[in-house]
Amino acid sequence: MSMYTELRSPNVHEPKTIGEYAETVINYNGSINSLWAGGTYIMSRPNFYPSPATNVEIINLKDIEELYRIQRNDRFSEIGAMVSLNDIALLGSNIFPKTLLQAIESTACRLIRERISVGGTLCTQGFNSSVSSVLILLDTAVEIIIPKKRNFTRRWVHGSRLYDKNGKFVLNTVFSNAMVSKIRIVIQNFDFEYFKTAGEPIKNPSEAVSLAVVSKLDQNGVSSPRLIITFPSIGFVYSKDIDNLLANLPLPANENRTRDLYRNILGYIKENLGPISKIQQVRLRGMLKDMVLSLNQHILSL
Ligand SMILES: Cc1cc2nc3c(=O)[nH]c(=O)nc-3n(C[C@H](O)[C@H](O)[C@H](O)COP(=O)(O)OP(=O)(O)OC[C@H]3O[C@@H](n4cnc5c(N)ncnc54)[C@H](O)[C@@H]3O)c2cc1C
Repeated sequence: MSMYTELRSPNVHEPKTIGEYAETVINYNGSINSLWAGGTYIMSRPNFYPSPATNVEIINLKDIEELYRIQRNDRFSEIGAMVSLNDIALLGSNIFPKTLLQAIESTACRLIRERISVGGTLCTQGFNSSVSSVLILLDTAVEIIIPKKRNFTRRWVHGSRLYDKNGKFVLNTVFSNAMVSKIRIVIQNFDFEYFKTAGEPIKNPSEAVSLAVVSKLDQNGVSSPRLIITFPSIGFVYSKDIDNLLANLPLPANENRTRDLYRNILGYIKENLGPISKIQQVRLRGMLKDMVLSLNQHILSL
């Protein structure tokens, strides 16, 4: 065995266009490909790179100009997959719902947020970011690139289609080597928004949890509310059943009703996602209580 065997580096490809990207993945079909966007997740994994165990073809997306494009009109914003979370926050202080801005601000520190791409945020296997959950909550559409022999196709899907119903990332099992190229966020207003996160999602995912809620309000209470709960290493809870529990909550709600809401949601989590840690339960209960208090205040001030 050569003394350098253990130091073998992976090949790094740097396509300049989406067409070149498609060509690269088709040519290397069969070897394990890994996309490199901001690199923040990849580099924080133990033994990823450089590592003798990592014998992969790396495709660095940094030179694909199209992935940095931003287009805006009065109905929506289209944002390339390589745009950083920080740039999205700067772009949208008065056009995006504040839930999205709060989710971005709660992600790592500013320096890292400047590197984290929105594509990487949506497509990290085995890690659910509260930012991707909020994008789903806001009905964000995602354009995906599906490489084909000598060509590629583009397709728009609802953000939730990148995952199974419990938040497991499945895009690559549905379309092999698919890449996210851009997202479209519709400009919209809500009467009520709530976002809270607790714990350290990357360092200690089994203790972290976040809750995001958006809704319209009228004299009768919430109308078409939507709620998403994120457990970074397990997935998310995003379901019409849970939204209906909130829609049917008589407001202002007392402690008993809030406790019932929590119990029902916990039941749903155990049945669909499996067990969560004690501290995640306690944190979620606190967030739901705080969210209902805030809803009560909004209703009383209508
Ligand atoms: C110290 C630290 C703290 C952090 N804290 C948080 C936090 O609190 N909350 C949080 O949400 N995040 C946090 N992150 C960031 C987390 O790494 C990102 O949320 C995101 O997962 C990585 O984005 P990236 O652009 O760096 O992607 P990369 O690390 O380059 O790639 C991540 C994965 O996404 C895939 N991918 C990338 N781009 C695309 C694309 N366009 N299409 C298809 N697949 C793609 C890659 O194949 C890879 O598997 C933290 C990171 C660090 C280093």
